[in-house]
Order: sequence, then structure tokens, then C-alpha cells
Amino acid sequence: MITADRRPRLDAHEHRTPATAGRAALEVDAEPGTEVDALTLGRRIREGRTARGLTLGELAAAIERAPSQVSAIENGKREPRLSMLRTIALALGTTADELLKTDAPSERAALEIAVERAQRGPVFAALGLPSFRVAKGMSDQTLTTILALHQEIDRLHRERAATPEEARRANAQLRAEMRARDNFYPELEAKAAELLEAVGHTGGPVSHQLVADMAGHLGYSLHYVGDLPHSTRSVTDKRNGRVYLPTAQSPSRDSRSPILQALASHLLGHHEPRDYAEFLRQRIETNYLTAAILLPEQATVRFLTEAKNLRRISMEDLRDAFAVSYETAAHRFTNVATARLDIPVHFTKVHESGTIIKAYENDRVRFPSDALGAIEGTTMCRNWTARTVFDVEDRFSPWYQYTDTSSGTFWCTSRIEKAKEGEYSVSVGVPFEHVKWFRGRETPHRAVSRCPDPSCCQAPAGLAERWADASWPAARTPTSLLAALPTGTFPGVDQTEVFQFLEAHAPASQAG
Ligand SMILES: [Zn+2]
Repeated sequence: MITADRRPRLDAHEHRTPATAGRAALEVDAEPGTEVDALTLGRRIREGRTARGLTLGELAAAIERAPSQVSAIENGKREPRLSMLRTIALALGTTADELLKTDAPSERAALEIAVERAQRGPVFAALGLPSFRVAKGMSDQTLTTILALHQEIDRLHRERAATPEEARRANAQLRAEMRARDNFYPELEAKAAELLEAVGHTGGPVSHQLVADMAGHLGYSLHYVGDLPHSTRSVTDKRNGRVYLPTAQSPSRDSRSPILQALASHLLGHHEPRDYAEFLRQRIETNYLTAAILLPEQATVRFLTEAKNLRRISMEDLRDAFAVSYETAAHRFTNVATARLDIPVHFTKVHESGTIIKAYENDRVRFPSDALGAIEGTTMCRNWTARTVFDVEDRFSPWYQYTDTSSGTFWCTSRIEKAKEGEYSVSVGVPFEHVKWFRGRETPHRAVSRCPDPSCCQAPAGLAERWADASWPAARTPTSLLAALPTGTFPGVDQTEVFQFLEAHAPASQAG
């Protein structure tokens, strides 16, 4: 049902699309501020022609043009020059001024023009649906409804496009908070410790059985099903105290995490998030609590302190000691590194395209960021460890690198992890003066990053100028990943690579 405020608006200027707005090419002395609208003009010409009982061919003959040209003008696909417009007006017994009036000749014509314009708009074009010709036989009601649908799609499109800014702000805010607390949350550590004690954990990796015991302790039973909704990792029935989990877990996946995440939401008293910021906060708390259970604070700090004393802290060792993924281990390291080991640290997760997915720092390393202060979605410097690791053939050994940056020298260790959406690098880094505690400090690999200086890894000015408007790469980064975090012209695309590719492959006459 179409409500009053959604009723199609028929003002000729209201739905002007870039396609028509950008080429008001008529050489007329139009009043300032008025633009000629090809669709309305064509419609007036057609109405004038049929009113005089002329066929397309007869009008074409009268103005000495091909019928196809007249047809293109009437359909608003071509705009006549003023001299031709005068000739047409003469043939129709009217004036050019009359034909150039901006209001539609009739209400019906206004409706048809609005539908036509909607079909030519970029939003409709992006849907990839075939457009149709508005026929005389179509009722006003049909056209009104179609137009209302177009406008609703436009509205939803704008609404969705508006969310990322909010998302990026929320991200930046949360990161600032995490930084202020050195990414350490004592109240979540306490909750994890309490639960671990309740099920009698005495140290070592947390087994699957122990996780099941935690569920039981909290009044939940676990149920493995084959038809879990695709977009979910688990579903909790709070009324009946049941957690549903998928039977088909890929063997490489840690089955403890989805259970703990479901329990964590319950333990933290999460309700349905009211906005994106709350959604993010809940996700961070859930992930934090899950990691704090899998790598208990006491045991983790004991393990890392010993490694620090022996000057051989290693993310791989932490991963193996607690039987978790590399990413879980590396991220957990950032929780305790500063608060418990006095080591400032940074962490990144970077997609193979160079797009930053997650980032955290309290060691003054400088990440690229956008105008809103968001880091996620921007492109990582090509010389950093998080990018160079993709070029390393040996995927089994840890990768270490020293990088001289605009904010000092950092040492980083990085590892590639595979996911459905492609490969990611997970990296942990520290300032030069803290590398002495880490295994891998003897690495000969060094790199220099001059970012944000454009000479570092942005395209040379000439190259960018030549190709910026003429390139249209399709991102390989999964769009779902960046839906909330778009940035730049093509999210997830390294434009320098695109420009260099185009330069290398361009025909000789076009290359500069
Ligand atoms: Zn760079």
C-alpha cells in the first residue's frame, strides 16, 4: 500500500538523474537556473506532432531529417540544437519557447516521464533488470505503483548508503576506547575466571568437554542440527535453555568458539542491539569473553611471562599451548601485552587485497585512516609486514620483518590464514625497543614505508591522472566484508595495482 508521504512526486526536476542533468547541451538562452530536460522536451514534441495528425515520417520529412533522428529526440535520447528545435517548432506551428517549457504537457505525460526517468537512473541500472517502454494501454494506477516502487528502492538505497558513515564512526570510537584501556577489560576477565572456576578448570587448554560443562552450569543443553539458518553460527532458545549448533562443522574450525559465543551473549546479558555502535560493542565483548575463556588470564600471563624472561615470545607457541587459532592467539596477546607484560603492541588483520579488516594499536604506529578516523576499510601500505607476507612462499614458517615508518621502526610477525572470502594476514607488531622479548628478532628482512607520503605506494601523479577516470576495476574483496566499511572509489581495490596494470597493458598510442 502506498501511503501519502510516499506518493510519487512528479516535479520534473525532482528525479533528474546524472545522465540527463550532466548534458544540458542545448545552445539556448535558457533562463539562469533552468535546465532543459530532454524527456519533457521530447514528450512535448511528440504531443505537438500527434495533435497535428503528423506521422514520424511526415515530421522528419518536413524538417529534412531521418525518422530515426526524430524518434530519438521524442524519446529524450537526443537533444536537438536550437536551430533544429526552431525548425521543428515551425513545422508544428508553435515556438521553441513553448516546446522548452519545463512542466510536463499533461499529468499522464508527467507520470510517463517520471517512470522513464526512473528506469534510466543509476539505481535501476545497477539492478540489471530489463527496462520497458511505457505503452498507451498501461493504466495510470499501474504506472503510479511502478513509480512508487522505484522511489522506495531509491530510498532504501540511500538509507543503506547512509549506514557506513555511522558504522565507521562507531568503529573509530570503540577503537579509541580500547586504546585507552590497553585493550584490557578486567570485568570480562573476572567473568571468564568465575566460569572457569565453576567447572573446575585447573589449567591447560580448555577442552570441548569443559565447554559443554560450562553450558550445563549455565542451564543450557547443546543440540547439533543439520538445518541451522545459513547466516547464523548458533541459535539459542532462551526459554528452553537450548543452544543449537551446526552438525556440519568443518574439521579445521574450533567447535568451542561458537558455543562459547552463544554462552557469552547470555552471560553478558546482551539484548537485541539498538544501533550499530551497540552491535559492535556486543560483538567485541562476546569475542573478548570467548578468548578469555579459551586462554585464561592467569595461565596466559604465566605462559607469556616465562617466554618473555627467556626472550622468546611467539604467537605460534601461544597458539599451540592453548590449542586455538593463530588469530585468536595473536588477538588475545594484545589483551595482556601492555596491561600484564608492559609491552605496547599493534595488531592487524588485512585481506589479500590490502584492505584492513581489523586494527588495534597502542604503540604509536600510524595506520592509514579516513576523514572520520576509521581504519577498517582503508588500504594498508604495501611495504608493511601485513602485506609483504603475502609474497612469501613458505607459508609454514613464521614471517618476521623490521619496517621503518614515519612514526619509528617496528618489528612485526605475520601469518596467512585462509577463509571463505580469501586469504588474510594476521599480524602482531611492537616498537623496535621491545623486539628483544620476541622470537624472530634476528630476521634479516627489512623494509621502508614512507606512507602517508604518496611517493611510497600510491600511484605516481601522472599515472593516477591518466587512469583515475578511465578505470573500472571489479573488487575481489567480498563486498559483504566491506558493506559496513566502504572507503575510496572502489572499496577493496588497490588502485595503484590497477593503474600499473592498465599502464602496462594499454595500447602503445594511449600509454603516456
Ligand atoms: Zn606505503
